[in-house]
Amino acid sequence: MNTKEIRKALAQWYERNKRILPWRETHDPYKIWISEIILQQTRVAQGYNYYLRFIERFPDVKTLAEAHEDEVLRLWQGLGYYSRARNLHAAAHQIMERYNGLFPHTPEDVSQLKGIGDYTTAAICSFAYNTPIAVVDGNVYRVLARLTACEIPIDTTIGKKHYAQLAQEVLDQQNAALHNQAMMELGALQCVPGTPDCTQCPLSTWCESASKDTATLLPIKEKKTKVRARYFHYIRFIIGNTFYLQKRTAKDIWQHLYEYPLIETEEPLDTASLLTHPSFQKWTEGNDDIRITRQTNIRKHVLSHQHIHTQLTEVRLSKETPALAKLIGVQPEKADMYAVPRIIELLNNDIKLNQP
Ligand code: SF4
Repeated sequence: MNTKEIRKALAQWYERNKRILPWRETHDPYKIWISEIILQQTRVAQGYNYYLRFIERFPDVKTLAEAHEDEVLRLWQGLGYYSRARNLHAAAHQIMERYNGLFPHTPEDVSQLKGIGDYTTAAICSFAYNTPIAVVDGNVYRVLARLTACEIPIDTTIGKKHYAQLAQEVLDQQNAALHNQAMMELGALQCVPGTPDCTQCPLSTWCESASKDTATLLPIKEKKTKVRARYFHYIRFIIGNTFYLQKRTAKDIWQHLYEYPLIETEEPLDTASLLTHPSFQKWTEGNDDIRITRQTNIRKHVLSHQHIHTQLTEVRLSKETPALAKLIGVQPEKADMYAVPRIIELLNNDIKLNQP
């Protein structure tokens, strides 16, 4: 592989084709960190406005560390993978305590921060400080596997080591920031999943899979993701003008977000079974007048390892029970204070849409 020529062609292509993005116009490690965490599992088009809002509200480590976690989650609402936001907040505290608010410089120190793994360490240190460490994300795996027509699966220990070494060999040590950005951009814009247009690619001269016509078969993944089905039956209890929320505290999806009282089952539950479920009976005990006023259709929420089948049922009661008193009673005008999972927003919309 002619790494010198590859680096040159890649850099020239990048200068001509790169997207102008705010986090590329800075060497501030804080802003680069925020953008990298937002863009994990999120497309640029979706993450762009979140990044701008986040930086506007929390322009530096100090303001982020001083914020309440609820506000951080509220700004994150809709992006999913909420542990990323909780970790950002926790890491901001670490930076204040350990480094007096100054973002650490060395890869060793950066990698000790909460929620920062090898990928993010390499991205922050190379983009902010030009540290010569290769970044390997999904786009880079794809480019490298295709460039070398390599069939080693990318999701195995041996594969991760192999591609990390390869990326480091290809890296332009003097221009790590530009090189890493260019590799990632090539994967995002040119060497795309599915069928890439190899005739327009700056690396086609050296690309082994292009010459063998095997690019669409690469990269190879070994493991198939197991998908778990879950059934979430949310109940919006209303007494007078008050409805109820609870905070998700368990180590599970949406930790620290708010939701309606929930009955989770491993199988679907019809409305009659919902009304006789022990949790429902506890929340409503002593109420003679239990009225179901509205109910959404079932909505499927797809996460990477879980399919969540959700439904929202609105129930009016005449009096508060001890079980409901333990939850958070909310007036509608205060509802915006609580960060909720995206699915709750969608179910709320469904209920409004179904309104007679
Ligand atoms: S020639 Fe095709 S397969 Fe090879 S790196 Fe370029 S776009 Fe990817």
